[in-house]
Amino acid sequence: MADLVEVATIVQAYKMPTCPDPRVRGIADGQLCEVARRRIGRPPTPDDLARYLSGDLCGEFGRDGGDVSSLWTRVRNATRRLANRLPIEWSAASGTLCVRLGRDDPAGAHPIEPTGRNLEWKLKDAIRHLYASLLVRKPDQGKTFRCFSGSAASSHFMRSGFATRFCDWRFIHRARLGCVPLNATRRFGDGDKRCRRCGEHNETLPHVVNHCKIHSAAWQRRHNAVQDRLVKAIPARMGVIHVNKRVPGSDSALRPDIVVVDETKSRLTVVDVAIPFEGGPLALEGGPLALERAIDAKLAKYAALAEEMRAKGWETTVDALIVGALGSWDQANEPVLKRCAVSPRYATLMRRLMCSDTIRWSRDIYVEHVSGVRQYSQPGMCGTADSTLSAPVS
Ligand SMILES: [Zn+2]
Repeated sequence: MADLVEVATIVQAYKMPTCPDPRVRGIADGQLCEVARRRIGRPPTPDDLARYLSGDLCGEFGRDGGDVSSLWTRVRNATRRLANRLPIEWSAASGTLCVRLGRDDPAGAHPIEPTGRNLEWKLKDAIRHLYASLLVRKPDQGKTFRCFSGSAASSHFMRSGFATRFCDWRFIHRARLGCVPLNATRRFGDGDKRCRRCGEHNETLPHVVNHCKIHSAAWQRRHNAVQDRLVKAIPARMGVIHVNKRVPGSDSALRPDIVVVDETKSRLTVVDVAIPFEGGPLALEGGPLALERAIDAKLAKYAALAEEMRAKGWETTVDALIVGALGSWDQANEPVLKRCAVSPRYATLMRRLMCSDTIRWSRDIYVEHVSGVRQYSQPGMCGTADSTLSAPVS
């Protein structure tokens, strides 16, 4: 909020000398020249005005006294404070006062001089990027950020709360920041870090929501919740849908999650769903590797099956639909939706529902793990909107 106040002050100062109304423009110019003259003790040049507004404290600009409090002194202070974090300064190089954002760097970037409405947008955007990069660089809190920031669907509930229970809301932000209290995440003391249920591994969030086998039934339902949404969205014209069955006409014993068989066009569409945990030790350097690894594993698993069916004359495609356990929508899913002929309109809703489904199930798995209280009562209950009526422990 403090940064937004600085931005608002700078934008207001920019608007006044560039106002279309000549009277406002004249008053603003006159005032600015007057406060700058009092500061440096002589009539200012355009460059002096830019140095004054940039918060320059060198030489005559740093002398004591002479200043009167005004919009322009606030702008001077705001620019100086913001310049501690962003490469920003005022410039009069082009003949008129403007704000210069960015600096020349070896990568080929140059400073920009946004004008008009663009200025506010560009400054806010620079601040958003600054905070995002600070977050990504954090060793714990930045781990999952790269995954769920890839698509707006992963955070669709932020403003509206759509398809999200209050208990999911309380869980998901702490979980994505890696701040969920568990045995292995204690910073102090030498207490037992092992899992309180299986006792085999360190009790971290990835272990609880994706690896602790005691929750395997809930994983299955989380997986099925996402899978069922896709099955419902595939139109009947695509062919006959087989769910969790062997591929008809194949010798392979594999049972892909979804197989769509179009006999008339000899077309076979295989889709497997996976819910991996976001992040991982390499997530900081190389992007959402956990999601990519999940895709590669699925494609490798069905490579032989695809070859066999192609040899039998079927036009075969194998795809993986990946949703992170903390509700990250993977952009690599988009071609899968297209291949399954999901209507673009429903796809928007489906992405959000799938992300909310995984968040809901992961939250229930976590709370059940910690409290020992069963969080879902009957198959499918938790994965539907009706579950908001149940009373989960939080
Ligand atoms: Zn365990």
